[in-house]
Amino acid sequence: MHREGAVTSYKETRNQLDGLFYSSFLSPWLANGSLAVSKLAWELDQFEKLHGANDSTRHFYSELLWREFFYRREVEDSSSLFRAKGTARERKLVTFDPRGFARWCAGATDYPLVNALMHQLVESGWMSNRGRQIAASCLVNEMNVDWRFGAAFFEQHLLDYDAASNYGNWQYIAGVGADPRGGRHFDLVKQTRQFDPEGEFTQRWEGYCPKQPEHIVDAADWPLESS
Ligand SMILES: Cc1cc2nc3c(=O)[nH]c(=O)nc-3n(C[C@H](O)[C@H](O)[C@H](O)COP(=O)(O)OP(=O)(O)OC[C@H]3O[C@@H](n4cnc5c(N)ncnc54)[C@H](O)[C@@H]3O)c2cc1C
Repeated sequence: MHREGAVTSYKETRNQLDGLFYSSFLSPWLANGSLAVSKLAWELDQFEKLHGANDSTRHFYSELLWREFFYRREVEDSSSLFRAKGTARERKLVTFDPRGFARWCAGATDYPLVNALMHQLVESGWMSNRGRQIAASCLVNEMNVDWRFGAAFFEQHLLDYDAASNYGNWQYIAGVGADPRGGRHFDLVKQTRQFDPEGEFTQRWEGYCPKQPEHIVDAADWPLESS
C-alpha cells in the first residue's frame, strides 16, 4: 500500500510513531537486498524532476545518505561497531541489572511509552525511527545498561535488521559512535507529550502496565556459604 506523493510531506510526518504513510517502510527491502539504495535514489531523482524537489524530498535523500554512511563505517571499521566503547577513547561505565533489562525487553518499565514501543516491536517486528530512538535512550540513559544488549534485542526482533544501521544508530544514541556531539538523552516525559499527547499509541500497544515493585533480593537467591 502506498500514497502517491507522500514523500513531499516526509519531513512533517517522519517522526510519527504509528500509521501507514508517515515514512516509506522500505527498510526491510533494503535490508534483505531486494531493493538497492541506488535504485531508490534514482527513483527519487525522477520524482523530483517531475514534481519538483522540496525540503521533504531532500530530507528523505539525506536519510538514504545516513544509511550509506553507516554502511561505509561498517566496511571501513567493523570491529569498533560492536565494541562497547565504539570509536570513543573511554568505555562508559554501565551497570548490568538483569531485571531492568528483562523489564525493558518485556515492555514492563516505569515508562508507558517505552512499554508500548517494546510491545509493538516484539509483536510486529516494527518500530518507527522516533520510537527506536526513545526506546534506545531509555535503556542507555535511564537504565544505564550496556547499549549492546539493546542492539542485540533489536537484532533479534526488527524486520529490517541491518548490522551497520542498527549498531551504528545504537552507538549514536549511546554517544560512542562517529558523532562529536556525544550521546542522545531523550526526556521521556517531553517525548511522550510531543509524540503521543493523547496516549493513543501507548493505549493501542498496552503500555500502561501496573507499576512494578522495587527490586527485592530474596535471600534464597544467594548461594549458601560452603561449610
Ligand atoms: C536504535 C536504532 C536502531 C536502528 N536499527 C535499524 C536497522 O536495524 N535497520 C535499518 O534499516 N534501520 C535501522 N534504524 C534506522 C531507522 O530507524 C530505520 O531505517 C527506519 O525507521 C526505517 O523505516 P523507513 O524505511 O520507513 O524509513 P524512512 O524514514 O522512510 O527512510 C528511508 C530510508 O532511509 C534510511 N534511514 C532512515 N533513517 C535512518 C537512520 N537513522 N539510519 C540509517 N538509515 C536510515 C533507511 O534505509 C530507510 O528505509 C535504526 C535506528 C535506531 C535509532
